[in-house]
Parts: sequence; structure tokens; C-alpha cells
Amino acid sequence: MAAKEKFAEPTYLECGFGELEYKVIKSEICCRCGTCEAFCPRIEHVENKPALVNYDPLCGLCFTYCPRTFLDMGAMESKLFGRTRNADEALGIFRKAVSAKAREASALAQDGGVATALLVQALQSGMIDCAIVTDKDGEWRTVTRLATTADEIRSAAGTKYTINNSVLAVKDALEKGCQKIGFVGTPCQIQGLRKVKLLDEPYQFGQDRIALLVGLFCMENFDYDLLMKGLVNGKFGLDAKDVARFEIKKGMFRVIDKTGKAHEVKIEETDEYTFPGCGPCFDFSSELADVSVGSVGSGDGWSTVLTRTKAGETLYSATLAAGGVQEKAVSEKGLALAKRLAAGKVKRFESKSVEMNVSGIIR
Ligand SMILES: Cc1cc2nc3c(=O)[nH]c(=O)nc-3n(C[C@H](O)[C@H](O)[C@H](O)COP(=O)(O)OP(=O)(O)OC[C@H]3O[C@@H](n4cnc5c(N)ncnc54)[C@H](O)[C@@H]3O)c2cc1C
Ligand code: SF4
Ligand code: SF4
Repeated sequence: MAAKEKFAEPTYLECGFGELEYKVIKSEICCRCGTCEAFCPRIEHVENKPALVNYDPLCGLCFTYCPRTFLDMGAMESKLFGRTRNADEALGIFRKAVSAKAREASALAQDGGVATALLVQALQSGMIDCAIVTDKDGEWRTVTRLATTADEIRSAAGTKYTINNSVLAVKDALEKGCQKIGFVGTPCQIQGLRKVKLLDEPYQFGQDRIALLVGLFCMENFDYDLLMKGLVNGKFGLDAKDVARFEIKKGMFRVIDKTGKAHEVKIEETDEYTFPGCGPCFDFSSELADVSVGSVGSGDGWSTVLTRTKAGETLYSATLAAGGVQEKAVSEKGLALAKRLAAGKVKRFESKSVEMNVSGIIR
């Protein structure tokens, strides 16, 4: 049952959708994570953004859970890890860093196929009973799926470099009675769900049923129309349906078409296609996930894995023990590169925050 139906009053915070719309949506710092849409029955996704579709007497859940209204990382880390980060922890707090590769990574996998292997292991071991994944249609439009089988998880492998409100599917999972929900997504999506899990508030609507957060590394994301019309079609003369794979490697944004031909531009030349809400974003490595997975730091066909919480560590160890992944040490050089990128993202956040008048986000 959604919070609004259960607790009409009293209010939790003195800020509701009006403030959310003013502070986040209209000012274009919304990262379109879908958290506000997932937890309020009166907010829906209309014309590609959150909209209030019903009168709201003010409860404040949307404002509270949005990762762009306020986010105190020190407070979140203290609750999640029992301490705040040290100055040298540019990738956030983690227990173990390794390079890993799935034993049976499919051709769809972006890097080592580890994100998929972890979710499959979590499902097969009973740690989760569903996984929210981001799949695509034939033209690379993102499609969020509530996967309940290993094959459904596997078929969503691979990175879609366009923004998606994946968190919205938590609503479906709760409504369908899922008891242990797994989620994979970008750092901003993980922030929203971690706020939902950690903030003290009077509502109970199933947040304890969110059991696992697998976070991805993310430097930036793109707007579907801008990317497909501007870059894929405008610059490379391809239709979205002709694309076999997108990847970002060694400073290049690369599109591989279905004949196997690669088309590429320098990543700096893709700024005009970036999603505006990615500007004021400091989190490169999904610092609030149970376990984070990215490509930077490891060689081709391998993923960099950071286990952060006890749940993340247990899952990774179980996946390794079950033969779902193989591992090797992550190189010092690889980890240093990931740290440099993370620090660079924080710098961008600082300047964009001034430019876009962002307040309340404390790194
Ligand atoms: C927008 C974006 C930007 C990224 N930028 C970087 C970067 O700068 N540096 C870096 O090292 N890594 C980056 N990554 C992570 C990288 O591309 C891989 O996702 C990661 O290395 C895991 O690879 P894998 O083979 O283990 O995952 P796979 O087994 O291929 O699984 C990938 C999972 O990602 C999920 N997913 C795909 N697209 C999206 C999306 N748009 N939103 C939410 N979830 C999605 C799918 O549900 C799938 O389960 C980015 C990922 C995304 C989505
Ligand atoms: S950032 Fe997420 S929670 Fe905040 S307004 Fe946008 S979609 Fe909603
Ligand atoms: S750059 Fe930040 S806001 Fe944009 S998709 Fe990645 S984590 Fe989300």
C-alpha cells in the first residue's frame, strides 16, 4: 500500500511536489531517476518527466526521497557504513576492489558481465525474488523490466547510454508482492533508493523489501532524442535500429553498427547530447550501493567490482564460490585512474552546482 493511502496526515516534511517541481524539475537538475514516481500514487511520468496528476494535500515523500533536493553524504555513510569516508577514499567506502569476469558472459554484456552474474546469483540463492533491470527495444529506447527469471536478467545485459526512470519499477514490484527486490542502476538511482531505505520517516510502505542495490559507475548519461538524432543519425548517418552496441573507451564514444563497423568521436564532443540533469552529479562509482561495478580500472572484457556493504560482500563471495565469476587483482594503475575520474566528477559537480544554483547536496 502506498504511503499516501495509509497515512493521509500528519505531514512528514513541509515541502511537497510544488517545492520539488520548483527546486528540481523546472530548474532541470532532475536526473529522471523515477524515485518520486515510484513512491507517490499521485505522481506519474508525463511527457518524459514527473508530474502531479492528482491534488496533493502535502506529504513530502517525493521531496524527501529525491536525490536532488538534499543529500548529506556524511550522514548517509554514517548510517550505512558506520563511519564517514577518509580524504583518500575518492571512490567512497568499500571493503574490497577486484577485477572480475563472468564465467558465461553473454555477447550482450557491456564489460565482464558481472552486474548480470551478481543478480543471477542473488536470484538463484533466494537473496532476491525479482530484479529491476534496464533493457531496450529495437531502437535502443530504454525499457525497464521486473525480471523474475535468470534469463530475463541476462537479456537486459549491456549499457544503454540514455537516461531512464528505472526506479519507477519498484512500484510494480511492491504492488506485485515481491518481498526481496533487487535493483541495478546508475549512481543517482542508487542514491534515491538508499535515501528511501535509510531516512527516518513515519511511513511504512515496503522499503524494507528493497534487498539489494547493484550500482554502476557513471560519468555522464545522454538524452535519447539528442543522442540518436544528433550523433547516431546526424553525425554517423545511422538509424538507431542499425546500432549493435554503444561503448565509451579510452576517451572515445563509440557506436558499433550491425555490420561490425565502429564510428567514434572524442567524448568531449558529446557534451551537446548529455542529459542536463547529469551536470550537478558528484557520484562516479555508486557510492551508496551494496556492490558497484564499472569498466574503468580493468582490462577489456573485465569489470571493476567494489564490494561495499556486508550484503554486497556476501553476494560477491557467493558468486565467486559458485563459479559465476572469476577474479584477479585490480591494478594500482587502474584504481588510480578510477579515483582520478571520480575526483574529476566532483569538480564538475562543484562548478555546475554554482551555475545551476544547486543547494542541499553535501559531498
Ligand atoms: C549511463 C551509464 C554510464 C556509464 N558510464 C561509465 C563510466 O563512465 N565509466 C565506467 O567505468 N563505467 C560506466 N558505466 C558502467 C558500464 O557501462 C557497465 O554497466 C559496467 O561496467 C557493468 O558491466 P557488466 O558487463 O558487468 O554489466 P552487464 O552484465 O552488461 O549488465 C549491465 C546492467 O546495466 C543495467 N543498465 C544498462 N543501462 C542502464 C541505464 N541506462 N540505466 C540503468 N541501468 C542500466 C542493465 O539493467 C544491466 O543489468 C556506465 C553505465 C551506464 C548505464
Ligand atoms: S531527480 Fe528523481 S526523484 Fe527527483 S524529481 Fe527527478 S525523477 Fe523525481
Ligand atoms: S551522471 Fe549522475 S545523474 Fe547522470 S545518469 Fe549518471 S549518476 Fe545519474
